[in-house]
Amino acid sequence: MAKQDYYDILGVSKGASDAEIKKAYRKMALKYHPDKNPDDKEAEEKFKKAAEAYEVLSNADKKAKYDQFGHAAFDGSGGFGGGGMNMDDIFSQFGDIFGGAFGGGFGGFGGQGRRMVKGSNLRIRVRLTLEEVANGVEKKIKVKRKVQAEGTTYKTCTTCNGSGQVTRISNTILGRMQTSAPCNVCGGAGQIIDQKPSGADAQGLMVSEETVSVKIPAGVVDGMQLKVTGKGNDAPGNGISGDLLVAIQEENHETLKREGDNLHYDLYVSLPDAVLGTSTEIDTVTGKVRIKIESGVQSGKILRLRGKGIPSINGYGKGDLLVHVNVWTPKTLNKTQKEFFESMRNDEHFEPKPQSGDKSFFEKVKDMFS
Ligand SMILES: [Zn+2]
Repeated sequence: MAKQDYYDILGVSKGASDAEIKKAYRKMALKYHPDKNPDDKEAEEKFKKAAEAYEVLSNADKKAKYDQFGHAAFDGSGGFGGGGMNMDDIFSQFGDIFGGAFGGGFGGFGGQGRRMVKGSNLRIRVRLTLEEVANGVEKKIKVKRKVQAEGTTYKTCTTCNGSGQVTRISNTILGRMQTSAPCNVCGGAGQIIDQKPSGADAQGLMVSEETVSVKIPAGVVDGMQLKVTGKGNDAPGNGISGDLLVAIQEENHETLKREGDNLHYDLYVSLPDAVLGTSTEIDTVTGKVRIKIESGVQSGKILRLRGKGIPSINGYGKGDLLVHVNVWTPKTLNKTQKEFFESMRNDEHFEPKPQSGDKSFFEKVKDMFS
Protein backbone atom coordinates (compact mmCIF):
# COMPACT_ATOMS: atom_id res chain seq x y z
CA MET A 1 0.00 0.00 0.00
CA ALA A 2 1.39 3.37 -0.99
CA LYS A 3 2.08 5.63 1.94
CA GLN A 4 0.34 8.97 2.10
CA ASP A 5 2.46 12.04 1.46
CA TYR A 6 3.67 13.64 4.70
CA TYR A 7 2.78 17.14 3.49
CA ASP A 8 -0.73 15.97 2.60
CA ILE A 9 -1.16 14.37 6.01
CA LEU A 10 -0.43 17.68 7.74
CA GLY A 11 -2.30 19.66 5.09
CA VAL A 12 0.59 21.97 4.25
CA SER A 13 2.31 22.79 0.98
CA LYS A 14 5.78 21.57 0.09
CA GLY A 15 7.29 24.97 0.67
CA ALA A 16 5.79 25.35 4.14
CA SER A 17 8.00 26.95 6.80
CA ASP A 18 9.00 25.20 10.02
CA ALA A 19 6.53 27.33 11.91
CA GLU A 20 3.70 26.41 9.53
CA ILE A 21 4.54 22.72 9.82
CA LYS A 22 4.61 22.92 13.60
CA LYS A 23 1.33 24.82 13.67
CA ALA A 24 -0.34 22.33 11.34
CA TYR A 25 0.89 19.40 13.41
CA ARG A 26 -0.26 20.99 16.62
CA LYS A 27 -3.72 21.48 15.14
CA MET A 28 -3.94 17.87 13.99
CA ALA A 29 -2.57 16.56 17.27
CA LEU A 30 -5.12 18.51 19.25
CA LYS A 31 -7.96 17.46 16.98
CA TYR A 32 -7.13 13.76 17.03
CA HIS A 33 -5.65 13.56 20.50
CA PRO A 34 -6.81 10.32 22.16
CA ASP A 35 -7.97 12.22 25.25
CA LYS A 36 -10.49 13.95 23.03
CA ASN A 37 -11.38 10.87 21.02
CA PRO A 38 -11.55 7.98 23.43
CA ASP A 39 -11.86 4.55 21.78
CA ASP A 40 -11.80 6.08 18.31
CA LYS A 41 -9.45 3.94 16.24
CA GLU A 42 -9.66 6.19 13.21
CA ALA A 43 -8.67 9.27 15.21
CA GLU A 44 -5.82 7.35 16.80
CA GLU A 45 -4.57 6.33 13.35
CA LYS A 46 -4.70 9.94 12.16
CA PHE A 47 -2.94 11.05 15.32
CA LYS A 48 -0.13 8.57 14.71
CA LYS A 49 0.21 9.43 11.05
CA ALA A 50 0.47 13.13 11.85
CA ALA A 51 3.14 12.40 14.46
CA GLU A 52 5.13 10.37 11.96
CA ALA A 53 4.88 13.10 9.34
CA TYR A 54 5.92 15.73 11.85
CA GLU A 55 8.83 13.63 13.08
CA VAL A 56 10.27 13.74 9.57
CA LEU A 57 9.28 17.24 8.45
CA SER A 58 10.43 18.90 11.68
CA ASN A 59 13.94 17.50 11.27
CA ALA A 60 15.97 19.39 8.65
CA ASP A 61 18.07 16.35 7.83
CA LYS A 62 15.17 13.94 7.43
CA LYS A 63 13.08 16.53 5.63
CA ALA A 64 15.81 17.08 3.02
CA LYS A 65 16.01 13.34 2.38
CA TYR A 66 12.25 13.01 2.21
CA ASP A 67 12.01 15.93 -0.24
CA GLN A 68 14.53 14.24 -2.48
CA PHE A 69 13.61 10.58 -2.22
CA GLY A 70 10.11 10.47 -0.75
CA HIS A 71 9.26 7.53 1.50
CA ALA A 72 12.06 5.52 -0.11
CA ALA A 73 14.48 7.66 1.92
CA PHE A 74 13.46 5.79 5.05
CA ASP A 75 13.00 2.27 3.73
CA GLY A 76 15.20 -0.25 5.42
CA SER A 77 17.17 1.83 7.85
CA GLY A 78 16.05 4.73 9.93
CA GLY A 79 12.44 4.53 8.85
CA PHE A 80 9.32 3.58 10.64
CA GLY A 81 8.86 0.34 8.73
CA GLY A 82 5.31 -0.90 8.61
CA GLY A 83 4.80 -0.62 12.32
CA GLY A 84 4.51 3.14 12.58
CA MET A 85 5.10 4.89 15.85
CA ASN A 86 3.53 3.75 19.05
CA MET A 87 1.75 6.10 21.42
CA ASP A 88 4.54 6.11 23.97
CA ASP A 89 7.02 7.26 21.31
CA ILE A 90 4.71 10.05 20.29
CA PHE A 91 4.15 11.32 23.81
CA SER A 92 7.75 10.99 24.83
CA GLN A 93 9.10 12.70 21.75
CA PHE A 94 6.52 15.36 21.30
CA GLY A 95 5.11 15.90 24.75
CA ASP A 96 6.36 19.41 24.55
CA ILE A 97 4.52 20.53 21.45
CA PHE A 98 1.19 20.51 23.20
CA GLY A 99 2.36 23.25 25.50
CA GLY A 100 -0.31 24.18 27.94
CA ALA A 101 -3.14 22.51 26.11
CA PHE A 102 -2.93 19.33 28.13
CA GLY A 103 -1.37 20.94 31.14
CA GLY A 104 -4.53 20.36 33.07
CA GLY A 105 -3.55 16.75 33.24
CA PHE A 106 -6.15 14.06 33.38
CA GLY A 107 -8.96 16.34 34.38
CA GLY A 108 -8.31 18.72 31.51
CA PHE A 109 -10.97 17.32 29.27
CA GLY A 110 -13.03 15.61 31.88
CA GLY A 111 -15.13 18.63 32.50
CA GLN A 112 -16.76 17.19 35.55
CA GLY A 113 -15.44 17.39 39.05
CA ARG A 114 -12.25 18.71 40.44
CA ARG A 115 -9.43 19.52 38.13
CA MET A 116 -6.21 17.67 38.81
CA VAL A 117 -3.48 20.25 39.23
CA LYS A 118 -0.17 19.38 37.66
CA GLY A 119 3.21 20.68 38.81
CA SER A 120 5.31 22.58 36.32
CA ASN A 121 7.78 20.79 34.05
CA LEU A 122 11.52 21.15 34.45
CA ARG A 123 13.85 21.30 31.49
CA ILE A 124 17.45 20.24 31.39
CA ARG A 125 19.98 19.62 28.68
CA VAL A 126 22.25 16.62 28.62
CA ARG A 127 25.41 16.40 26.55
CA LEU A 128 26.25 13.03 25.08
CA THR A 129 29.33 11.76 23.34
CA LEU A 130 28.86 9.89 20.08
CA GLU A 131 29.76 6.67 21.90
CA GLU A 132 26.97 7.30 24.42
CA VAL A 133 24.53 8.00 21.59
CA ALA A 134 25.55 4.78 19.85
CA ASN A 135 25.45 2.51 22.86
CA GLY A 136 22.74 4.12 24.99
CA VAL A 137 23.55 5.34 28.48
CA GLU A 138 22.06 5.85 31.89
CA LYS A 139 22.79 9.34 33.18
CA LYS A 140 22.54 10.44 36.77
CA ILE A 141 21.46 14.04 36.70
CA LYS A 142 21.27 16.47 39.60
CA VAL A 143 17.97 18.29 39.49
CA LYS A 144 16.66 21.07 41.68
CA ARG A 145 12.96 20.41 41.92
CA LYS A 146 10.23 21.82 44.06
CA VAL A 147 8.78 19.22 46.37
CA GLN A 148 5.98 19.38 48.89
CA ALA A 149 7.37 20.69 52.15
CA GLU A 150 6.83 18.31 55.02
CA GLY A 151 4.37 19.62 57.55
CA THR A 152 2.21 21.50 55.07
CA THR A 153 -1.47 21.04 55.80
CA TYR A 154 -4.45 21.85 53.59
CA LYS A 155 -8.03 22.87 54.05
CA THR A 156 -10.98 23.00 51.70
CA CYS A 157 -11.12 26.11 49.55
CA THR A 158 -14.00 28.24 50.74
CA THR A 159 -14.43 30.06 47.43
CA CYS A 160 -15.39 26.94 45.45
CA ASN A 161 -16.26 24.72 48.43
CA GLY A 162 -13.70 22.19 47.29
CA SER A 163 -15.11 21.65 43.81
CA GLY A 164 -12.28 23.52 42.07
CA GLN A 165 -14.82 25.16 39.79
CA VAL A 166 -16.73 28.39 39.99
CA THR A 167 -19.96 28.78 38.09
CA ARG A 168 -21.15 32.02 36.56
CA ILE A 169 -24.55 32.70 35.15
CA SER A 170 -24.84 35.39 32.51
CA ASN A 171 -27.65 36.64 30.31
CA THR A 172 -26.98 36.46 26.59
CA ILE A 173 -29.11 36.74 23.48
CA LEU A 174 -29.38 32.96 23.57
CA GLY A 175 -30.80 33.07 27.06
CA ARG A 176 -29.21 32.37 30.38
CA MET A 177 -25.81 30.76 30.00
CA GLN A 178 -24.06 28.89 32.72
CA THR A 179 -20.29 28.76 32.41
CA SER A 180 -17.81 27.23 34.76
CA ALA A 181 -14.14 28.02 35.14
CA PRO A 182 -11.38 26.82 37.41
CA CYS A 183 -11.43 28.56 40.78
CA ASN A 184 -8.75 31.22 40.82
CA VAL A 185 -8.22 31.08 44.55
CA CYS A 186 -7.13 27.44 44.70
CA GLY A 187 -6.15 27.14 41.04
CA GLY A 188 -8.70 24.39 40.55
CA ALA A 189 -7.30 22.08 43.21
CA GLY A 190 -10.20 22.54 45.60
CA GLN A 191 -7.83 22.94 48.50
CA ILE A 192 -5.75 25.74 49.91
CA ILE A 193 -2.85 25.76 52.35
CA ASP A 194 -3.76 25.82 56.01
CA GLN A 195 -0.31 25.72 57.58
CA LYS A 196 3.17 25.49 56.13
CA PRO A 197 6.66 25.29 57.58
CA SER A 198 9.03 28.24 57.29
CA GLY A 199 11.06 27.97 54.10
CA ALA A 200 8.13 26.71 52.04
CA ASP A 201 6.78 28.99 49.32
CA ALA A 202 3.20 30.20 48.99
CA GLN A 203 2.23 26.85 47.46
CA GLY A 204 3.80 24.83 50.26
CA LEU A 205 6.73 23.77 48.09
CA MET A 206 10.46 23.73 48.85
CA VAL A 207 13.43 23.34 46.53
CA SER A 208 15.29 20.08 46.95
CA GLU A 209 18.25 18.71 45.03
CA GLU A 210 17.73 15.20 43.79
CA THR A 211 19.66 12.84 41.61
CA VAL A 212 17.46 11.54 38.83
CA SER A 213 18.48 8.58 36.74
CA VAL A 214 17.65 9.01 33.05
CA LYS A 215 17.84 6.05 30.71
CA ILE A 216 18.82 7.28 27.27
CA PRO A 217 18.18 4.76 24.51
CA ALA A 218 20.73 4.20 21.75
CA GLY A 219 20.21 6.24 18.59
CA VAL A 220 18.87 9.50 20.02
CA VAL A 221 19.26 12.58 17.86
CA ASP A 222 20.50 16.05 18.79
CA GLY A 223 17.52 18.19 19.81
CA MET A 224 15.34 15.26 20.73
CA GLN A 225 13.51 15.53 24.03
CA LEU A 226 12.95 12.69 26.47
CA LYS A 227 10.42 12.82 29.25
CA VAL A 228 10.90 11.50 32.76
CA THR A 229 7.37 11.38 34.13
CA GLY A 230 6.82 12.86 37.57
CA LYS A 231 10.32 14.26 38.03
CA GLY A 232 9.39 17.89 37.46
CA ASN A 233 8.07 20.13 40.22
CA ASP A 234 5.49 18.74 42.59
CA ALA A 235 2.01 20.19 42.43
CA PRO A 236 0.61 21.89 45.49
CA GLY A 237 -1.85 19.79 47.46
CA ASN A 238 -2.69 16.39 46.09
CA GLY A 239 -2.01 17.18 42.42
CA ILE A 240 0.34 15.24 40.20
CA SER A 241 4.01 16.13 39.74
CA GLY A 242 5.24 17.74 36.55
CA ASP A 243 7.72 16.05 34.24
CA LEU A 244 11.43 16.39 33.69
CA LEU A 245 12.10 17.15 30.03
CA VAL A 246 15.57 16.14 28.96
CA ALA A 247 16.89 17.74 25.76
CA ILE A 248 19.61 15.78 24.01
CA GLN A 249 22.72 17.60 22.89
CA GLU A 250 25.25 15.68 20.87
CA GLU A 251 28.95 16.45 21.15
CA ASN A 252 31.07 16.37 18.03
CA HIS A 253 33.39 13.42 17.72
CA GLU A 254 37.03 13.98 16.92
CA THR A 255 37.14 11.72 13.87
CA LEU A 256 33.65 10.37 13.22
CA LYS A 257 30.88 12.38 11.62
CA ARG A 258 27.27 11.38 12.00
CA GLU A 259 24.74 11.55 9.19
CA GLY A 260 21.44 10.02 10.28
CA ASP A 261 22.32 6.53 11.45
CA ASN A 262 25.47 6.32 9.32
CA LEU A 263 28.93 7.45 10.35
CA HIS A 264 31.70 8.80 8.15
CA TYR A 265 35.43 8.54 8.70
CA ASP A 266 38.09 10.23 6.58
CA LEU A 267 41.09 7.97 6.16
CA TYR A 268 44.34 9.35 4.77
CA VAL A 269 46.78 6.86 3.28
CA SER A 270 50.25 7.61 2.02
CA LEU A 271 51.14 7.08 -1.63
CA PRO A 272 53.32 4.02 -0.86
CA ASP A 273 50.55 2.49 1.32
CA ALA A 274 48.02 3.07 -1.46
CA VAL A 275 50.34 1.46 -4.00
CA LEU A 276 51.46 -1.46 -1.86
CA GLY A 277 48.42 -1.99 0.38
CA THR A 278 48.44 -1.87 4.18
CA SER A 279 46.31 -2.35 7.24
CA THR A 280 45.42 0.43 9.65
CA GLU A 281 43.37 1.11 12.78
CA ILE A 282 40.36 3.38 12.66
CA ASP A 283 37.96 4.68 15.31
CA THR A 284 34.49 3.24 15.72
CA VAL A 285 31.87 3.92 18.40
CA THR A 286 32.77 0.61 20.04
CA GLY A 287 36.55 1.05 19.97
CA LYS A 288 39.32 0.78 17.42
CA VAL A 289 39.03 -1.61 14.50
CA ARG A 290 41.76 -2.75 12.14
CA ILE A 291 40.89 -2.59 8.46
CA LYS A 292 42.76 -3.81 5.40
CA ILE A 293 43.62 -1.48 2.54
CA GLU A 294 44.08 -3.38 -0.74
CA SER A 295 47.08 -2.57 -2.90
CA GLY A 296 46.17 -0.13 -5.66
CA VAL A 297 43.37 1.52 -3.68
CA GLN A 298 42.03 4.70 -5.28
CA SER A 299 41.36 8.02 -3.61
CA GLY A 300 37.58 8.39 -3.20
CA LYS A 301 37.00 4.72 -2.53
CA ILE A 302 34.45 4.13 0.24
CA LEU A 303 34.79 1.13 2.48
CA ARG A 304 31.52 0.24 4.12
CA LEU A 305 31.62 -1.38 7.54
CA ARG A 306 28.10 -2.74 7.91
CA GLY A 307 26.39 -2.29 11.26
CA LYS A 308 29.20 -0.16 12.68
CA GLY A 309 27.02 2.97 12.67
CA ILE A 310 24.34 4.18 15.06
CA PRO A 311 21.36 1.98 16.00
CA SER A 312 18.05 3.27 14.72
CA ILE A 313 16.07 4.98 17.49
CA ASN A 314 13.02 3.06 16.26
CA GLY A 315 14.76 -0.24 16.78
CA TYR A 316 15.12 -1.18 13.12
CA GLY A 317 18.74 -2.18 12.66
CA LYS A 318 21.91 -0.15 12.66
CA GLY A 319 23.62 2.27 10.31
CA ASP A 320 27.00 1.68 8.68
CA LEU A 321 30.43 3.21 9.06
CA LEU A 322 31.67 4.60 5.74
CA VAL A 323 35.42 4.94 5.49
CA HIS A 324 36.44 7.46 2.84
CA VAL A 325 39.88 6.76 1.41
CA ASN A 326 42.02 9.80 0.60
CA VAL A 327 45.41 9.16 -0.94
CA TRP A 328 47.90 11.70 0.35
CA THR A 329 50.11 13.13 -2.36
CA PRO A 330 53.45 14.42 -1.03
CA LYS A 331 53.98 18.15 -1.47
CA THR A 332 57.76 18.11 -1.21
CA LEU A 333 60.22 15.55 -2.50
CA ASN A 334 63.97 15.14 -2.21
CA LYS A 335 66.16 14.82 -5.27
CA THR A 336 66.08 11.00 -5.47
CA GLN A 337 62.32 10.90 -5.07
CA LYS A 338 61.87 13.57 -7.68
CA GLU A 339 64.03 11.62 -10.12
CA PHE A 340 62.03 8.48 -9.43
CA PHE A 341 58.70 10.14 -10.21
CA GLU A 342 60.22 11.90 -13.25
CA SER A 343 61.23 8.49 -14.58
CA MET A 344 57.68 7.19 -13.95
CA ARG A 345 56.01 10.00 -15.87
CA ASN A 346 55.64 8.00 -19.03
CA ASP A 347 55.42 4.59 -17.41
CA GLU A 348 52.23 2.77 -18.39
CA HIS A 349 51.52 1.65 -14.79
CA PHE A 350 51.20 5.30 -13.75
CA GLU A 351 48.69 6.13 -16.51
CA PRO A 352 45.18 6.62 -15.07
CA LYS A 353 42.91 3.86 -16.41
CA PRO A 354 39.72 4.05 -14.34
CA GLN A 355 37.71 0.84 -14.38
CA SER A 356 34.19 0.15 -13.26
CA GLY A 357 35.51 -1.20 -9.97
CA ASP A 358 37.09 2.13 -9.11
CA LYS A 359 34.37 4.24 -7.65
CA SER A 360 33.80 7.40 -9.56
CA PHE A 361 32.47 10.48 -7.88
CA PHE A 362 28.91 9.81 -9.00
CA GLU A 363 28.90 6.24 -7.78
CA LYS A 364 30.26 7.53 -4.51
CA VAL A 365 27.31 9.84 -4.07
CA LYS A 366 24.85 7.14 -5.04
CA ASP A 367 26.47 4.77 -2.58
CA MET A 368 26.01 7.17 0.29
CA PHE A 369 22.25 6.97 -0.02
CA SER A 370 21.90 3.30 -0.85
ZN1 LIG B 1 -11.24 27.02 45.06
